[in-house]
Amino acid sequence: MEIRYISTRGGMAPVSFPEAVMMGLADDGGLLLPAAIPDVRTRLDGWRGLDYPALAAEVMRPFIGDGLTDAELKDLVRRSYATFTAQEVVPVLAVGDTFIAELFHGPTLAFKDIALQFLGNLFEHYLKKSGGTLNIIGATSGDTGSAAIYGVRGKAGIHIFIMHPQGRVSPLQERQMTCVLDANVHNIAIAGTFDDGQRVLKEIFNDLPFKKRYNLGAVNSVNWVRVLAQIVYYFWAAFRVQERTGAPAVQVAVPTGNFGDIFAGYMAVRMGAPITRLILATNENDILSRFFTTGEYSMGAVVPTLSPSMDIQVASNFERYLYYRVGQDPARVCELMAGFAATKKLTAPGADPLFAAGCGGTADVLRVIHDCHHEHGYILDPHTAVGVAVAERFADPAAPTVCLATAHPAKFADAIVQALGADLAHHPILDALVDQPTRCTVLPPEQGAIQGFIRQTLA
Ligand SMILES: *Cc1c(COP(=O)(O)O)cnc(C)c1O
Repeated sequence: MEIRYISTRGGMAPVSFPEAVMMGLADDGGLLLPAAIPDVRTRLDGWRGLDYPALAAEVMRPFIGDGLTDAELKDLVRRSYATFTAQEVVPVLAVGDTFIAELFHGPTLAFKDIALQFLGNLFEHYLKKSGGTLNIIGATSGDTGSAAIYGVRGKAGIHIFIMHPQGRVSPLQERQMTCVLDANVHNIAIAGTFDDGQRVLKEIFNDLPFKKRYNLGAVNSVNWVRVLAQIVYYFWAAFRVQERTGAPAVQVAVPTGNFGDIFAGYMAVRMGAPITRLILATNENDILSRFFTTGEYSMGAVVPTLSPSMDIQVASNFERYLYYRVGQDPARVCELMAGFAATKKLTAPGADPLFAAGCGGTADVLRVIHDCHHEHGYILDPHTAVGVAVAERFADPAAPTVCLATAHPAKFADAIVQALGADLAHHPILDALVDQPTRCTVLPPEQGAIQGFIRQTLA
């Protein structure tokens, strides 16, 4: 079976799955999507009894085609989720009237591990076949850097260089990155801000001879595989809730930043997952919740909140959704995105009844964390609490709600202390980091300095 990937902007010949994996952003500046979405409705009953890795192989199979054999896919998926500390991989718990799908049992305790553990193994697999090498470069303000590092640590053919702003990420987040001592992991503390890191990253990727000479790659949230691996847990969570409630379908609440997690939910619904509605939840950085309530996508200023991984005003995966919203018309996507680049604003036609949306502000988050702990003895992290707060407004007697829990609360101790008055959330993995050795190189936020370091490291 041949599956092809196309660009949302229509300016690229279709590519295979392995090409899509290595490409990241489409060559015409758009985002990659499968040319057709498989309909899996007749298969759901056969999938209900599968464990998480087996379900992952089934859900991803039609998107991969000849890109992997069945045995290769099963092996990659098993190895990717063997690093999770929960036996079920994604436990789904009843907390009061709602359900919580814990996506945070991977090595860095945030949901990004679900995709990045798989993507790291996939990169290694294709590089072994081609004999090639890959040098991943990223700039992080916190969570993504450590998940990417853990995705590729120790992998053959891959080096990873992650820049973080020196002294401007939380000490815990810094240790999650710099305590990884594998020879292929290179942490760079840049003497500057996160924006300096982003700027230098862009400059390095725009140096095409350098990019080519060193096979540079990115692991940011536009890579199709990150969406693909996340589709799985929408099926998984729906099945687990159906088992317990007998409900014909569920709704899923998703705390959202870059629209990556919830776009995977959109794909799951299009495939036929038993989901009636996606509840999109933002913090005060509410470009997406405003879009789904008004139809206007307009950029505001970023404000810092208790849920920093959602402090985003331009959602890098939004263009994928826009492509479907305008009837799979790439010319229309180009027009709207060009308008957005010029005016920081676009308006999409119609409305989409699949989505409900709202904003969970700081007061909501603190209240929800407090009440959930008080009433049920369960501690929510501040990102998950945004989802739970918004989900409260959209209860449906016919469809139970499952909220995606995107991080372990111990990662965000300051918010927990604010909400509960004490530092109650701990995790042995994080506690153990305190006295582990670290490795990190401090460099100025300049293209030449970073490129020099990369050259010297790879020489
Ligand atoms: C990245 C992240 C999010 C947002 O996910 P998107 O795919 O960007 O919408 C939410 N919560 C946590 C803890 C994250 O790390």
